[in-house]
Amino acid sequence: MKEGTAQEFDPSSYVYHGGGAQAEFGLLKERLAAYLKPEDVAQVEAAYRFSDAAHKGQLRASGDPYISHPVEVCTILSDWHLDVPALCAAMLHDVMEDTPTTMEDIAERFGKTVAVLVDGVSKLDKIEFQTEAQAQGENFRKMLLAMARDVRVILIKLADRLHNMRTLGPMAMEKRRRIAGETLEIYAPIANRLGLNNLYRELEDLSFFYLYPTRYSVLEKAVRAARGNRRELVSKVLEAIKQKLKDCNIEATVTGREKHLYSIYSKMQGKNLAFSEVYDIYGFRVIVKDVPTAYIALGSLHSLYKPIPGKFKDYIAIPKANGYQSLHTTLFGPFGTPIEVQIRTADMHKIAEAGVASHWLYKSSETSMNEVQQKTHQWLQSLLEIQSESGDAVEFLEHIKVDLFPDEVYVFTPKGKIFSLPRGATAVDFAYAVHTDVGNRCVAVKINHELAPLRTELRNGDQVEIITTAHGRPNPAWLNYVVTGKARSHIRHYLKTMQYEESAALGERMLNQALRALQAEPGQVSDAQWERFLKENSGKSRQEVLADIGLGKRLNVVVATQLLAAGGEAGVERKPGQVGAVTIRGTEGMAVQLAKCCRPIPGDPIIGFINKGKGLVIHTHDCPTIAEYRADPDKWLDVEWDPDTRKLFDVTIRLVVANQRGVLAKVAASIAEAGSNIDNVAMEGEDGSAYTNMTFTLQVENRVHLAQVMKNLRRIQEVVRIARVKG
Ligand code: MN
Repeated sequence: MKEGTAQEFDPSSYVYHGGGAQAEFGLLKERLAAYLKPEDVAQVEAAYRFSDAAHKGQLRASGDPYISHPVEVCTILSDWHLDVPALCAAMLHDVMEDTPTTMEDIAERFGKTVAVLVDGVSKLDKIEFQTEAQAQGENFRKMLLAMARDVRVILIKLADRLHNMRTLGPMAMEKRRRIAGETLEIYAPIANRLGLNNLYRELEDLSFFYLYPTRYSVLEKAVRAARGNRRELVSKVLEAIKQKLKDCNIEATVTGREKHLYSIYSKMQGKNLAFSEVYDIYGFRVIVKDVPTAYIALGSLHSLYKPIPGKFKDYIAIPKANGYQSLHTTLFGPFGTPIEVQIRTADMHKIAEAGVASHWLYKSSETSMNEVQQKTHQWLQSLLEIQSESGDAVEFLEHIKVDLFPDEVYVFTPKGKIFSLPRGATAVDFAYAVHTDVGNRCVAVKINHELAPLRTELRNGDQVEIITTAHGRPNPAWLNYVVTGKARSHIRHYLKTMQYEESAALGERMLNQALRALQAEPGQVSDAQWERFLKENSGKSRQEVLADIGLGKRLNVVVATQLLAAGGEAGVERKPGQVGAVTIRGTEGMAVQLAKCCRPIPGDPIIGFINKGKGLVIHTHDCPTIAEYRADPDKWLDVEWDPDTRKLFDVTIRLVVANQRGVLAKVAASIAEAGSNIDNVAMEGEDGSAYTNMTFTLQVENRVHLAQVMKNLRRIQEVVRIARVKG
């Protein structure tokens, strides 16, 4: 994990050549003992033994025993001084996948924290990224981060990926390419975002090696040759910088560094340059003790070589999104060679190299612990929006729960496509995100293979399968819980269309009544008649005219008369007579509404009020609220109840009862006995008064049913008065 200097750097050393590199716990144990207590090392060793037994007989593609893999992953994590639960989880990270071991087994032996970490890693393992879906890379990265919750899960996953990349050699060509592509697309950027720079560079170079072996080797040779050619120049500059800083009394560590191959390659690709045109394959790094010194060092270097205008960047004042801080400048070196220099403090350097892992890595160095911890905390806070703050180191660790993108959830289709939805989104939102038709026809949902209510809020990583039927249709109740604009607007649109269709159906019935009243059978009206009528009268479609009738925009009698006239049957004089009443079933949907004021029920004499554009509102004949409109006959339509309504209707009754214990229970029991439901009840009565008013909204089949309910209620002694409420 150590970064090479210009002199010792050898990219090919990254690549695993197979054979005999079997990991032993002994080596790891030594590394662990350097920063852990003996009892902690013993715990990791117990995890090692458990894992070794579980993976017994399994081999890696290289021929090594499988246990070598978790041991190596654990070793990588020990470079960051990760804590015991993370190390144990790393040791066990594949046992749930590959062996019958369950999460409960792990929790029992190693505690809940370890089990949760292993489970987190296993969940990430189940997700397979399809490289074709490159556009989804960003979503995928976000999802991985959001799913992990605990940053240690990501660190284990990244170490796992690093070791798999290091041992990719024995795999089949296709698999190598797929894994390398995924690493470049998903895992290297995550490492970069978390500030894990060494890991990031190694992942990129390994991916580059497996994806483009020829380009890799050509570039590697070119860099090696350049290294020879430019060695003199590099050491000259290095000496000059050291001397200058010394002259200015600045204490600093200066190193030369070579950029990693993939970054050189990207630069050539991005700017369309030949290798000979890429000069800044070397950089110099100056580490100083504090921030003021960094700026003084910058000034002294600018007096050594001239800075190239426009190349200076102050990432100390304005840190990068991943918390990186440094001063960057490019100088005109000897022979006009551009020289990149980074200047930063030691603490900034730690974070620049290890990023999120610097918390574990440097927490034991007593003197700077608080400062580093604080910096790391700040870093995490800006990056991860951590809510909880704690001075206590242990508690702080417990609280590093990563929630990078708190406002979004990422879920899958059964085919593995990812959708990003706002937090709080439900299965219905998902259905509409997939396709409008899927939304309109959804009737049920399976979340992670189990049936769930459509209103279920989705969580990160859920696999969501929407079940549709041809006759499914949006439910107005969905509007109560959908959160996406898309779902909302499509449901609204559909309901509007529905209202139109229902209005057209009602309009047809109203028109048929009017035709019969004119002594014409509806079936007698020919298509030709309709066509002529539409041409002469409106230019609208038949369906639109019917909907207009249903919505009260046209009078049925007028349309009926005009239709018959369009028949042109000479000599057949039709006299407009009494228009028959339209029957109401109560199940017409949005085209017919039962007025809330009087709540008509079957058996009540009723009248229809044509509410232009909204449909028909049914009132009782004696409803007081309509009295003033009665004078305008154009607004009214004769309606009557269908003899067979088969539906329960709401009705309101008011009771005055004597204030005695248990009277409400008696009333409720009586209503239930009569086969009615109580939809709502309100009570009012002054304290200490002898009587209470109770207002019930009940559900009854019709007037006869209501009469039965009221008769039963009258038998209760405490009931003084009882009346149905209208208006
Ligand atoms: Mn693994």
